[in-house]
Amino acid sequence: MAFELDKTYLAIRDEAIELAAAAEPFAVEADAMSTVHEGMRKLLADSGLWTLTVPSRWGGRFDSVDPLAVCVVREVLMGTSAHLDSLFALQGIGSFGLARAGSDALRDRWLPQVASGDVLAGLGLTEQDTGSDLKNIVTEVWRDGDRLILDGNKSFISNGGAAGFYSVLAREDAGLSLFLVPADAPGLTVTPTPEIIAPHVLAELSFDNVEVSETNRIGDPGTAMDHVLATLAVFRVSVAGASIGLAQAALDETARHAGTRIQFGRPLARLGAVADMLGASWAELEAARLLTYKAADSARVDPAASIHLSSMAKLVASEAAGHITDRAVQISGRFGLVRDSKLERLYRQARPMRIYEGSSEVLRLGISKTLVATVLANEAQTPAEKR
Ligand SMILES: Cc1cc2nc3c(=O)[nH]c(=O)nc-3n(C[C@H](O)[C@H](O)[C@H](O)COP(=O)(O)OP(=O)(O)OC[C@H]3O[C@@H](n4cnc5c(N)ncnc54)[C@H](O)[C@@H]3O)c2cc1C
Repeated sequence: MAFELDKTYLAIRDEAIELAAAAEPFAVEADAMSTVHEGMRKLLADSGLWTLTVPSRWGGRFDSVDPLAVCVVREVLMGTSAHLDSLFALQGIGSFGLARAGSDALRDRWLPQVASGDVLAGLGLTEQDTGSDLKNIVTEVWRDGDRLILDGNKSFISNGGAAGFYSVLAREDAGLSLFLVPADAPGLTVTPTPEIIAPHVLAELSFDNVEVSETNRIGDPGTAMDHVLATLAVFRVSVAGASIGLAQAALDETARHAGTRIQFGRPLARLGAVADMLGASWAELEAARLLTYKAADSARVDPAASIHLSSMAKLVASEAAGHITDRAVQISGRFGLVRDSKLERLYRQARPMRIYEGSSEVLRLGISKTLVATVLANEAQTPAEKR
């Protein structure tokens, strides 16, 4: 097994580093916004990195979306700007189901514009009364003669208000189904989500008698969870990538501060308790990075079979980002508390990562189910099967 990125991924990382450097001057401004920063959007479009979020048939870079490439880019972008990272990743998260199961007409209509960034994508799963427990959503599609009608709501939707379309999870007779709803569909109303501690482009969607045509279906009736899980299989590990990028940025800031600030006649980094925190943070970060690359590489080969690894990577890396940013603020003393300083931003931005795309508790639940099933299945095998 190789423990280093090969030259394909190193070249992609260089592209991301170039974009991040160009975006750095706007980072504080963009990260305070809950609408799209047009300058960042243009930089991203010009960088060509959005082509990593769509298959090559529709203008993307690789035959299929490569989780390791997405991961490597998010690691770099998140260290500079959460706004930039989110703009990048959402194109894939919002369009993956469409690329996987939409009709040719629907894919030809939308995906090239996702790859170029002319249209932003959104994924609508969460509702006002339902988050982790997606099987209990209330948004529904019902038939009125030849017409399909969508009623309900979606809450905390990234790119809400800015997206050109949303992939929306809804219930119907056959079970849960996925539909592409253009942002200008009559009956769709978008209102702002309350501001959160780490500003994010978010909105509430309300569907009131929205007509959706059969051609806007993504996949067969009742198969939505397959497409949602496939999306998570590819993109959940990329949240781990973003988490380690954020944690690295916080650790770099802290090491610089602790290495140069003198208290009690020596640098902070030489005071035992501070050294202890720095050492623990670096070790946690490197462990999270190794697991993240391993999970992303496995997801590249077989996304569905490696979802437990992706979940572990997202769990470990987002929890590590929480610990590392918390220690970073502690080590920086009062300077770590200054509004919109790099550390203060990273500290706030680390927090939602343990909640979205599978909260830590829900991930542990899934991982433990896989563990028990794997052990029991192994024990049921004959010695010959085990070999
Ligand atoms: C910045 C941001 C962006 C987002 N973007 C999107 C988006 O683009 N599209 C979208 O659809 N949603 C989006 N969301 C919503 C996100 O997916 C939900 O917040 C997430 O699924 C958790 O749901 P919830 O907040 O309703 O929490 P709940 O499901 O109510 O959970 C609350 C707490 O209970 C715990 N819990 C829940 N179930 C269990 C269980 N079975 N066992 C143990 N503990 C449990 C959770 O871990 C959590 O700690 C976004 C959220 C944020 C913060």
